[in-house]
Amino acid sequence: MSVIEALMDLQEVDGRIRELEVELKDLPKRKALETARLTGVSVDLQAAKAGEMQANERVKTYEADAQALKDKIRQLKMTQTGLKSNKEYQQYSVQIDLLSHDLETTENNQLAAMDDIPSAEHRTQEAQAKFDAEKGKVDEVCAEYDARIARAQAELDECQKERAEKAKSVENPEFKLYYERLRTRRWPVVVPLTGDNVCDGCHLVQPPSVAQLVKANAQNAAVGKPVRIVACAMCGRILYGDAD
Ligand SMILES: [Zn+2]
Repeated sequence: MSVIEALMDLQEVDGRIRELEVELKDLPKRKALETARLTGVSVDLQAAKAGEMQANERVKTYEADAQALKDKIRQLKMTQTGLKSNKEYQQYSVQIDLLSHDLETTENNQLAAMDDIPSAEHRTQEAQAKFDAEKGKVDEVCAEYDARIARAQAELDECQKERAEKAKSVENPEFKLYYERLRTRRWPVVVPLTGDNVCDGCHLVQPPSVAQLVKANAQNAAVGKPVRIVACAMCGRILYGDAD
């Protein structure tokens, strides 16, 4: 196997590694977007729950107010029975009447507040059902993403092992170093010189001397003679071609 062939093999594995790395970067982001979809329905649910709590609190407040008024009226009535003067008795009656009127209003308000509870409860139930349904969908999609992430990670681990093997097959250290240095900046690193002497990586037309070197490399490789790096003058990619 020529050094170019060995590099092409390595490049093929590296290509898969690059794709998997992109996928592994992208999948968690897509999963996060999916989870973010729940935020809206979660806010609705919290609002509905808060509304229901407020409705209950209102009823309790009116209830406590009514109880306080009842206690006060009872106290006034008790004091009133022990009163000697008619004038004082009348004054107490006026006060008791006023408080009784307040009590009636408070009790009416309490009833009205109680009427609001069923609809508040219904809103919570609806919001909860919507949240549960949405969460079910999101959980399902997230589980799929997790499975895909796990698969891609396993595949990447395999590729890394394969890469270590393929890298060993590139016996020429000069080619190997050149390839390793360039691969983070240019991709792919090893490209054909096309029929019209154009670098397949950056599409720059190469001088005839480069085409001659590429051809000589191919001829040497065919008979097991050493080859040298022929790089594109513009992008530095390693160029290869046919012997004829
Ligand atoms: Zn080029």
